[in-house]
Amino acid sequence: MSKVHNWQIGREMNYPYPKAFPRRQFAFVFNINRCIACQSCTMACKSTWTFSKGQEHMWWANVETKPYGGYPQFWDAKILDLMEKANPGNQQWSGKPSDDKQKPYDQFDGKTIFEAQNLLTPDSARVLGYLPTDEEWNLPNIFEDNPVGKRGVRNEIDKEGTTLPEHKTWFFYLARICNHCSYPACLAACPRKAIYKRPEDGIVLIDQKECRGYRKCVEACPYKKTMYRGNTRVSEKCVACYPRVEGKDPESGGQPMETRCMAACIGQIRMQGLVKMNNDGSWAEDRYNPLYYMVHVAKVALPLYPEFGTEPNGYYIPPRWVPRDYLKQMFGPGVDDAIERYSYPDRELLAVLQLFRRSNRIIFRYEIKEGPKIYEATLRGRKITMYNDTVIAYGQNGNEIFRTQVEEPVHVRPNKHANSI
Ligand code: SF4
Ligand code: SF4
Repeated sequence: MSKVHNWQIGREMNYPYPKAFPRRQFAFVFNINRCIACQSCTMACKSTWTFSKGQEHMWWANVETKPYGGYPQFWDAKILDLMEKANPGNQQWSGKPSDDKQKPYDQFDGKTIFEAQNLLTPDSARVLGYLPTDEEWNLPNIFEDNPVGKRGVRNEIDKEGTTLPEHKTWFFYLARICNHCSYPACLAACPRKAIYKRPEDGIVLIDQKECRGYRKCVEACPYKKTMYRGNTRVSEKCVACYPRVEGKDPESGGQPMETRCMAACIGQIRMQGLVKMNNDGSWAEDRYNPLYYMVHVAKVALPLYPEFGTEPNGYYIPPRWVPRDYLKQMFGPGVDDAIERYSYPDRELLAVLQLFRRSNRIIFRYEIKEGPKIYEATLRGRKITMYNDTVIAYGQNGNEIFRTQVEEPVHVRPNKHANSI
């Protein structure tokens, strides 16, 4: 057991495992506003890592339609329900967003999955969790595109349902992979110590030779991102495409490259990076790292269910049209401010948002060169101004990876290629 500081919940917390922090941390930002559920990410992962016999039900990367969809089914409703049972009526946040860079919003006063001791049984002594049934792992995109309709009814469309700031008929796509958490529940729960977090990049892996298939990790991970394989009798999980992150992919030229699911993203919602860490597990200040900027400076990207307590390293720009109560349960109390900043982006944020998916190399730093004013308008009563700034992305070795502009350039194909691909 160790005492750790979990910055996402703004306080100290008990973690049932010795604390150890990596030098860099694998992290990512998904902009939900742009996901179209094309499932290219899902298939990129499947065709790389889980295409073998015994892995048919495994989707390390998946995209589910909220609020009804889930893989495994009802994973979030089930763990939230257990947490509520452990601490009835008290799963609350106490404060408002703060200006402190390491503290996007105030404290979570409820119990995390590591603190719900009253509900832990001798069988699952370290972490509050549950084992999904075999049926719950079926149908990974069940309820795809099913909206919440009038009075909360599934599939019943409200006629006045599409006006911002909140649609009365709504759904959204939640893309998910393992969060390579700072305090992984899977790792803490493994009686074999078969799970480890790599000191160089914080990627969480299962040692296949050590695992005996007890499935304690499957039970403990609140995001249900470890999965049991029946024919080998061991558990498996997302490996964060570590050979690519290490720069060992033949295409990478020795430079760190983003994972397959990130690189395949058609909607350009995904950006992955390796953020610098302090010795105490907090993110080291790195002002011009795009992930650091979006998470700690602009605070447009928020962790998924921070109240679970694992300090997930996946961050989401929340969807603008979804009722705020639902989003606050999912992303914590920073939601209103994040949506406000995303809806009326300042000059720097607009430039940084252009960095998504222009390359499959990991961006370590960006620089903005100012351009001319190109647009001015009043949007829902607020004035917005756009500048055609150029944003330049640099890799680990400091070399430029690419540069792009806020106003997307138009390329006209020469006639002779008009009908060719
Ligand atoms: S998301 Fe689950 S499987 Fe991944 S590191 Fe966190 S606890 Fe472990
Ligand atoms: S590839 Fe991108 S846009 Fe398509 S489903 Fe995945 S996250 Fe969404």
